[in-house]
Amino acid sequence: MSEPKTPPAPAAAGGRASTKKELPEHFKAYKHVWVYIEQERGQVHPVSWELMGEGRKLADKLGVELGAVVLGAEGETVRGAVAEAFCYGADIAYVVADPVLTDYRNEAYTSAMTDLVNTYKPEILLLGATTLGRDLAGAVATTLLTGLTADSTELDVDTDGSLAATRPTFGGSLLCTIYTLNYRPQMATVRPRVMSMPIRVEKPVGRVIEHKLGVVEDDIITKILSFLPDRDSNKANLAYADVVVAGGMGLGSPENFQLVRQLAQAMGAEFGCSRPLVQKGWVSSDRQIGQTGKTIRPRLYIAAGISGAIQHRVGVEGADLIVAINTDKNAPIFDFAHVGIVTDAVRFLPLLTEAFSKRLSAHSRDKLAS
Ligand SMILES: Cc1cc2nc3c(=O)[nH]c(=O)nc-3n(C[C@H](O)[C@H](O)[C@H](O)COP(=O)(O)OP(=O)(O)OC[C@H]3O[C@@H](n4cnc5c(N)ncnc54)[C@H](O)[C@@H]3O)c2cc1C
Repeated sequence: MSEPKTPPAPAAAGGRASTKKELPEHFKAYKHVWVYIEQERGQVHPVSWELMGEGRKLADKLGVELGAVVLGAEGETVRGAVAEAFCYGADIAYVVADPVLTDYRNEAYTSAMTDLVNTYKPEILLLGATTLGRDLAGAVATTLLTGLTADSTELDVDTDGSLAATRPTFGGSLLCTIYTLNYRPQMATVRPRVMSMPIRVEKPVGRVIEHKLGVVEDDIITKILSFLPDRDSNKANLAYADVVVAGGMGLGSPENFQLVRQLAQAMGAEFGCSRPLVQKGWVSSDRQIGQTGKTIRPRLYIAAGISGAIQHRVGVEGADLIVAINTDKNAPIFDFAHVGIVTDAVRFLPLLTEAFSKRLSAHSRDKLAS
């Protein structure tokens, strides 16, 4: 007979109260919320302004300042980004302007950002979850040995003033809230269009802190030899489109997916799809909408033959008006669509295309006549 097993130790009390530790003394001086203003080739990525809106809310809750971090070569672009940052709510701008920062390179930008953090000590640092932002955020977090919550979908501060960064987990079936309790700054990235665009207010003044870059060109291993713009000039701009038409497995074939493209064309819209269509090779991956694709916030979203699985829903629920076409009246998409049409999308889409073509061309004719 085997010995009776020792009963397992009682589980620790749940919730984060049991995990909260005292913030180490040297982190207590960390204050203020920072947003990295991402720019490439003279253009600020709009996700930076979306994050300024969130940063402003967090800073106001904490009663601290909102700082904008602008890195780049000295000149008009940096000055323009700083001026815009004030219009989007920054109290202060931290600027590192140096020719070494002309183009994004991980080593130089990580050095500039970590140096700023170590000098001015922000408690929260937000970056866009773009290709550049993800690259920079990971390097900065590992260099500073702090926590980073990637692809956050909600940001808040709890009663202790800790950043509560929420993001999908377990394939999008659950949401988890992640804290960085014992390290500073608390870092998070957010994908474009997940947060709404704040209102731009003309506010030309704000404080600017200029900081010197701590590295020189010889310290940087990566060299930019030339710049080749993206070959595909028709690259989808789904994230920022006003009208999006998308199709899912309910369309049944790649040929039927053309009906989505035709409607999008008639409406001057972008087109997108659910993930299985990309997996089947019917549509290219830059058209995928959802948790592992693009997040969109159009004024109008038309979903044809899409069931509305949670992983798709998280990418579209910021749309102002969602119209769903599905043969199954119990499809989950009808739980969050504003307008539901229970019908066969393969038959209905051509009728919509025809109606929009007539209506829009008549409207265009009216405009020309007036
Ligand atoms: C980790 C992970 C990440 C994921 N990321 C994404 C993501 O980013 N984006 C995404 O979309 N999915 C994602 N998915 C997949 C997701 O779970 C669903 O499987 C997917 O969204 C389903 O696609 P669908 O609605 O096109 O197909 P289905 O679920 O097969 O639904 C087809 C729908 O069409 C309807 N239909 C059938 N015939 C017609 C007709 N003739 N006319 C009208 N309606 C019709 C059906 O009633 C049904 O509701 C992810 C899954 C995982 C596990």
